Amino acid sequence: MQINDGDIHTGKPVPFKVYTHSNLNKIPQLRNFDKEHIFAMQVVATVLPFRVNQYVLDNLIDWNNISDDPMFQLTFPQQQMLEPEHFERIAGLIKSGADNIEIRSAVREIHLQLNPHPAEQRTLNVPRHKNLQLEGVQHKYRETVLFFPYQGQVCHSFCTFCFRWPQFVNDSELRIALTEGKRLRSYLRDQKEVTDLLVTGGDPLVMKTSILARHIEPILGSEFDHIQNIRIGTKALTYWPYRFTRDSDSADLLRLFERIVKSGKHLAIMAHFTHWRELEPDATVDAIREIQSTGAVIRSQSPVLRHLNDDPAVWVKLWRRQVQLGVVPYYMFVERDTGARRYFEIPLARTWEIYQKAIQQVSGLGRTARGPSMSAGPGKVEIQGVSVVNGEKCFVLRFIQGRNPDWVERPYFASYNPGATWLDQLNPAFGEDKFFYEDEYEEMRKKHTCGC
Ligand SMILES: *Cc1c(COP(=O)(O)O)cnc(C)c1O
Ligand code: SF4
Repeated sequence: MQINDGDIHTGKPVPFKVYTHSNLNKIPQLRNFDKEHIFAMQVVATVLPFRVNQYVLDNLIDWNNISDDPMFQLTFPQQQMLEPEHFERIAGLIKSGADNIEIRSAVREIHLQLNPHPAEQRTLNVPRHKNLQLEGVQHKYRETVLFFPYQGQVCHSFCTFCFRWPQFVNDSELRIALTEGKRLRSYLRDQKEVTDLLVTGGDPLVMKTSILARHIEPILGSEFDHIQNIRIGTKALTYWPYRFTRDSDSADLLRLFERIVKSGKHLAIMAHFTHWRELEPDATVDAIREIQSTGAVIRSQSPVLRHLNDDPAVWVKLWRRQVQLGVVPYYMFVERDTGARRYFEIPLARTWEIYQKAIQQVSGLGRTARGPSMSAGPGKVEIQGVSVVNGEKCFVLRFIQGRNPDWVERPYFASYNPGATWLDQLNPAFGEDKFFYEDEYEEMRKKHTCGC
């Protein structure tokens, strides 16, 4: 059996197997699946990234109940994730024995139709420094810089709904990553308004501790005193909790966390829990305790998704358990307008209902979760509710983050649209022809395209 390629990222013997598109049919638990179902999964996995490790197969998925199992939905491809015509096209090519080049070119055409870079992340978010584009860095909101270390652009397993899917499809034109941290540091040194550095991916905790330390330790020096908070985005608590307890460099990782905290910065582990089932394994609870013992704080965010967690009861249980474990609920997101969104998307009106019904059932300690929030081009837009103003039914919206910080926390209104699933499907209420920020946002985009 093919052994995973995880070892190239961690440099250590890997105690579990990883399955990808090429050996999906060898997954032991799929033995009794019918051939057509497996073929359908392979077709989808040809277009969208697929990767699952033995830990997830053995510990998270309920194989007696896969049709309803959220952990199966979280990691395994489903036929309806692709448009029927895209599915038929790839299935036809594979069945007719088309060669790899032909399949890859069809896949690439489909990728370009799936909005690989939503919210202008490839254009407006990439900062310029000393006349160079800083690839692998995004700076959209004044206080926070995102860093995508080259070695962290993979995950222990992949989530089927991931908006970062272009990172994983082996197409360097679609991928964002930076090879060296020197230029990042040179940029940060000049950006005194930046308080937060968010190390993200992929999952940066697929990296060896020594590589992660190489990126983070220089930031602990006094020239970076303005960087008050270091955040690390990760789903390792779900997909490989032994990262914090049993890997050969787990202890080093925890010592690194301690050094960050001792240096006077806040260390935020931005975990990603989509369903309370992810918090059940003892290995995850143990890992949470280890992280907390370093002085780091774990926060948690997730999109709300059809087939996976579109039920207030799931969120109530998730948030209650998080608070009990000392994990701070942080964001509920709306599924982004990219990749497999056709499978997961939910009307905005419904996302708000789920949020409202769930938040009403947790104590104040759980009400730190904000949302449902759309990470869109102009900013993070929260649906605050549905209201009737002067007889017109409308959505009340606000920016939680904005490309212009001045847009934040100004309630504004969109006409109620029961089917809308994203910001671009909303129109201003009360007969106005534009939202208050639109002219300014248009200016920002124009300025960028002409390079002036
Ligand atoms: C969400 C996000 C951040 C962080 O926003 P917070 O509200 O501070 O968590 C930073 N940059 C980008 C591009 C984001 O989408
Ligand atoms: S762990 Fe995060 S980055 Fe990785 S596939 Fe899941 S959502 Fe995407």
